[in-house]
Amino acid sequence: MFSFNEARAKIIESISPIKEEEESALPDSLGRTCAEDIVSPMALPQHKNSAMDGFAIRFEDLKHFPRLEVVGESYAGHPFLGTCTEGTCVRIMTGALLPEGCDTVIMQEDTELYGNKVRILKTPHAGLHVRHPGEDIQAGDIILKKGTALKAPQLGLLASVGISHIKVFRLPKVSLFSTGDELITLGHPLKADQLYDSNRYLLGGLLKTFGIEPLDFGIIPDDKKTLREQLLKMSSGGDVIISSGGISVGSADYVKEVLEEVGQIFFWKVAIKPGKPFAFGKIGSSYFFGLPGNPVSATVTFEQLVMPALRTLMGRQDNSPFEFKVRSLDHLKKEPGRTEFQRGILKEMNGEWSVSSTGSQNSGILSSLNKANCYIVLPPECVDVKAGDFVCVQPFNSNSELIVTSKRNDKPQARSCLRFR
Ligand code: AMP
Ligand code: MG
Repeated sequence: MFSFNEARAKIIESISPIKEEEESALPDSLGRTCAEDIVSPMALPQHKNSAMDGFAIRFEDLKHFPRLEVVGESYAGHPFLGTCTEGTCVRIMTGALLPEGCDTVIMQEDTELYGNKVRILKTPHAGLHVRHPGEDIQAGDIILKKGTALKAPQLGLLASVGISHIKVFRLPKVSLFSTGDELITLGHPLKADQLYDSNRYLLGGLLKTFGIEPLDFGIIPDDKKTLREQLLKMSSGGDVIISSGGISVGSADYVKEVLEEVGQIFFWKVAIKPGKPFAFGKIGSSYFFGLPGNPVSATVTFEQLVMPALRTLMGRQDNSPFEFKVRSLDHLKKEPGRTEFQRGILKEMNGEWSVSSTGSQNSGILSSLNKANCYIVLPPECVDVKAGDFVCVQPFNSNSELIVTSKRNDKPQARSCLRFR
């Protein structure tokens, strides 16, 4: 059985990133990956402008004039077209062009107006509250590197320099299905021994945060023939197949057996908890990820093993979970042997961050994921954590996705649990 780190490394090294590029308009680019370095065609700001509402002045004048004559106004989009001469100033708004002759802006709150004369109450320094051309971005700067994930700030940055379309990598085609005779699609009544298929919504939701709209293959029964037919169908033309359920050792678990028949299996079972029965393989040119059926196991294996694969496939540079150490407020049960991803709640008390457990860590307790805002990562050698010990946490963002960074060292450093047997 692979350790978690071995499994993650094996997956990442087995995946060849998608090379095909396409042009994408900004509104359609959320979640996509930049396929080229993006060079700014212009400086930002383009011209000197004001960072405050107030008065644009000539700094030298403050030595010679107790009051300055207001000779005009400069609004954002409606500049003052004249020149400020000695002893004069211009009323100016935030973002408005700095009039010719002026070098400093005094904020309105530091002035007193007497008719068309203004008195400066606080002596500033020269150049105060002036934004300079290129202060944010210079023409020719690389504003986004190839491999950057396009999130809202990146779209804003591109728009700010007038870029409406960019080259992105093609998105992976991902097929998603659940398997199990007990599973029922939403909208149908349940019998006593049935349950609603939650994994397709959960995993589908996580895929959508990547900008991936999965091909939904629904619920496949615990039947080898149907599984075989459907897997072959999914593999033609697709990049990735993700299943949940039927991958364990039960006598109705056929996924591994059928995968071996129609494709190759690279490994099965990983020393993690929850989520040990996890399979990685290939069918034709599609990568196959067989996730366990328990919803928490499916989520943990998806986030810890499938997401790194998808990011690699999508050409993204950010692939290392952001993690840090905090004190655990609770006693956490842990047997040595596997890497555990317990669900935790990070909180701040008196300026110090700590983590508590969401309660039962049973892999069927889906509500633990709703309560959690982080994973508590306990490395294989770690045993029971005492309240007050330091543990490693990986925080979620507001979509309950792991926060990732582009740290070069790709191996998670979950080595902060203090107690070893
Ligand atoms: P399996 O991995 O097929 O042995 O399933 C393990 C457990 O997860 C069983 O209790 C299943 O009923 C449950 N399960 C499997 N697939 C799903 C699903 N798509 N949604 C919710 N629960 C599931
Ligand atoms: Mg099953």
